[in-house]
Amino acid sequence: MAKYVPDIGSRRWVIISPGRSLRPNQEKKKADDVHICPFCVGNEHMTPPELYRIGAGEKDKPGWSVRVVPNKYPITDTHEVIIHGPDDDQDIEDLPLDQVTRILTAYRDRYRAHDDAGQVLIFCNHGFAAGASLKHPHSQLVVIPRQINLDAVAREPVANIVEENTYFITYCPDFSQWPFEVWIAPKVEGGGKFGSVGDTEVADLAPVLQNALRRIRSAQDKGYLRSVHEPGVFVYNFYISHADNWFIRITPRFVHRAGFELGTGLNVNVTDPTEAAKILKEVSAA
Ligand SMILES: [Zn+2]
Repeated sequence: MAKYVPDIGSRRWVIISPGRSLRPNQEKKKADDVHICPFCVGNEHMTPPELYRIGAGEKDKPGWSVRVVPNKYPITDTHEVIIHGPDDDQDIEDLPLDQVTRILTAYRDRYRAHDDAGQVLIFCNHGFAAGASLKHPHSQLVVIPRQINLDAVAREPVANIVEENTYFITYCPDFSQWPFEVWIAPKVEGGGKFGSVGDTEVADLAPVLQNALRRIRSAQDKGYLRSVHEPGVFVYNFYISHADNWFIRITPRFVHRAGFELGTGLNVNVTDPTEAAKILKEVSAA
């Protein structure tokens, strides 16, 4: 059971979740260790019983193209892993678009499955430095009780547009806490919760999400911002707002957060969002 502890003054909460510390750390494994990935095809028995799949085949057997299982080391009482595909290596920025659409469909379906139970947050940690403990591309879904106040930002006004298509707009808000932070939001404001998106919108979201990640990676590869990580290592988080008027927020991890941010609560953004948008527009999304 997760234990929620409040700080009365700030209305912030902390989750005490000791079981989390038992999770594997693939990053620390030596190169000569034989690694068996629990998310790869053929290893379905290594995860808790499957909750959902897109694709063919029987439960907990191969044939799937997206698979959802409970997290073995949960933060919250409901904590799921959405496995992005059978491929151990390729993530959203490199997968075929129809596979990205399947991943987003799984997000939407699982959001709907839990919408009545609490606040549903879907997030993706890409790269060990972004908090991933297994390399195999995946996202996570957590449900947090409604009485827990989440210290989360609401949708920021559209500014510094990078790209748009039929339903969505990609932009770098003036209030960007991270360098090259990118938001994707429905063009129409007040679009409700993420669970309300239809199949046509999901298919339209896939290319803008993929393009945003590709553009950020291109900007990194072209040296517009030196990353604190090894050259060529692309590290990011994104999450889908749990709330009404939903959006996706992508935060590439070009910098570390340190004592100044911890002590002040002020984030230092070393790239002006206007400049970031200009660069992201120019670089290739291929
Ligand atoms: Zn794998």
